[in-house]
Amino acid sequence: MLNQEQLKEFHDQLSIMKSELIETIQSEIADEESPFNVPGDMADKAEAITYVSVSEELTAGQKITLDKIDRAIKRIEDKIYGKCTICSNLIELDRLSVIPYAETCKEHMQ
Ligand SMILES: [Zn+2]
Repeated sequence: MLNQEQLKEFHDQLSIMKSELIETIQSEIADEESPFNVPGDMADKAEAITYVSVSEELTAGQKITLDKIDRAIKRIEDKIYGKCTICSNLIELDRLSVIPYAETCKEHMQ
């Protein structure tokens, strides 16, 4: 079982990840307006628009991660953090230290 100190460390780490992610998403959303103001011919604009859809996909992935981070923080508060959502066994500590918002143990990760 994770002790209070470990839980606090994961909580801090998750909070930092969360604010960094929000910053990244916000800067990308700001960038998305620029392609329509791009000077140049149609080819330049097409390229700019392709870039927008790539970055939108990226943002969608980041929003999923953000959700996972939020759920992990909530699990810490609910004192159920670190348990696999499938088998309820404890998630390996080395896995949590790489992905603190992991919801499943190694056996049940995708
Ligand atoms: Zn499991």
